[in-house]
Order: sequence, then C-alpha cells, then structure tokens
Amino acid sequence: MRRSGSSGYRGRLAPSPTGLLHLGHARTFWLAHERARTAGGTLILRNEDLDPDRCRPEFVEALFEDLRWLGLTWEEGPDVGGPCVPYQQSRRTDLYRTALQRLRAAGQVYPCVCSRKDIRAAVSAPHAADDEPIYPGTCRPEAAARPPISRSGPAGRPPCWRFRVPDGEAIEFVDGWYGPQRFVAGRDFGDFVVWRPDDVPAYQLACVVDDAAMGITEVVRGADLLVSTARQVLLYRALGLAPPRFFHCPLVTDERSARLAKRHAALSLRALRAAGVDPAALRRQWLAWLWSDARNRSPGFPGERARADGPERPSDACPA
Ligand SMILES: [Zn+2]
Repeated sequence: MRRSGSSGYRGRLAPSPTGLLHLGHARTFWLAHERARTAGGTLILRNEDLDPDRCRPEFVEALFEDLRWLGLTWEEGPDVGGPCVPYQQSRRTDLYRTALQRLRAAGQVYPCVCSRKDIRAAVSAPHAADDEPIYPGTCRPEAAARPPISRSGPAGRPPCWRFRVPDGEAIEFVDGWYGPQRFVAGRDFGDFVVWRPDDVPAYQLACVVDDAAMGITEVVRGADLLVSTARQVLLYRALGLAPPRFFHCPLVTDERSARLAKRHAALSLRALRAAGVDPAALRRQWLAWLWSDARNRSPGFPGERARADGPERPSDACPA
C-alpha cells in the first residue's frame, strides 16, 4: 500500500455495491486515481452501500478485487482503515441524521408524502437536466422559515424529506473538465429528496456529509452527476460546509452512444478479466483517450489548467 500523499489533495472512489463494476465505472475510477496520483495526494475508498434493497455483500468483495485487478490503490478505506472510519455509508447513518436535523431546524427541508406515481401524474413536461421529474411542490409549505411538523400520508405512509430549493437562483461552479456550469434552481432541478420514506438517507445528503467529513478536496465522477452537483452545492451552503472542487468526466458509451449499464454484462471487469484482457492495456487506452480529448479542447480550458496544476502529467504517473 502506498503511503498517504502530502500534497493536501484528497480524492475518493465512491462505488456502490449494487452490481459488478463495468467499463464505464472503471474508467471514471481510473481517472479519479490518476488525478490523486498526479497531485501527490491521498485516495479514499468509500463504500456507498446505503440502499438496503440493492446493495449486496458479494458485490463489495467483487468491487475490491476488480479495482485491484485494474491496478488501483487507495490509502484509506473499509479494508485498510484510516482517520475517517467507518468508510461504509451504512455505518455512518448518525452523521446523516444529525445533518438532517440541522436542515429541519433551519426550515430548509419539509416532509413530502407524494409517491413517484403522484409526481409523475402531476408533472407532464418539466424534467431536470438529468431527467428527474421536477417536484411540483405539492407538499411544500408556504413559509420556508418555520420548520414544518412531521406528518404521514394517506395510508400512514411515512414521509420523505425534501430540500426546498431557492427558485430562480442560479447555482454556478467551475468544473475541472467541463468549465463554468450554471443551473437554475426550480427550472433545471426542483426540490429534492434528502431522506427516503424507508428511513434511508438519500444519495445527495450522504455524499455531501461524507465528502466534507472526509476532507475531500476534489470530487471526480461521471458527467451524469453535473446537475446533482448543483443540488449538492445548495446542501453544502445550508449545512455551512465548504464544497470541494468538482471534476466530471464524460461517460463511456457503447457503439450506439448509449451509456453503459448493467445490460452490458460482457463489459463488466469480471468478464473482461475472464476473457484475458490485460489491465495495463486498458489503462494505456484510457490515457490515450484522455490526451486526445485534451488536444481537442482549446488551451486555457479549466480542465487543462487543473491538470497543469499537478506536479506531473498523468503520463508520468501511469505505470503502464
Ligand atoms: Zn409531496
């Protein structure tokens, strides 16, 4: 295991054990790894195992094995420990609950008893940029200042908790790959769930709480989460936390330009390994992709500057 970097950079790999890793996840994790190594930083592995319906212990084991096969290493994680234990989200629920209490006390969230079906029925057209239906505001209290009281739905359905977004406010951030980003609250995304009706913290809240608690300085993840970053910027602000830098990378697509998904079983790292694929060759291919993409962009693009900030170019850091 490598020793922790001393540059102050802290990155993370945050896989969810809901299935086998496929090529799409793997390239993003590889890039996160490259960025941390290039910066002389520390890489944290966080197991995002909050969803009791979809996460499986056997996928956790497979995850570690597949990432190691790929040649990735990390300095902190559920298997190696570190100063921010535990590194499994399912064991950090108290932290998320405390954050929820703070949001409730500040009147920034409200209970919502709408089902997905209710929301789909209420919204005919508007969808967020990531295709989430924009919440029509059915349960939104009139006054944001007063914390609403808990209530149950028609059949005693427990509520979820929704974050009230500041309608019309532009949320802006500079992405390390895509440059300046701007999303308007209430138009590009709506009030979003921070706590599920089955008493499970939602992704947005857990992610923000952990990235802050683990001192993450740069989040590297797929471009499908750009809109979520706007949501998360609001959560950072509401919780009085400083957001990290963000670096979203393009998703791997198949020959029909569709995002890779579970149905591309042949592209799981497991299957590639069984087929005799050499992980070093994969890494070389990704490095070539990274640099060809860099050449296609104009000089001065924020991604270029971010990369230039590092002490070495990725090609120097790659063992391939
Ligand atoms: Zn509702």
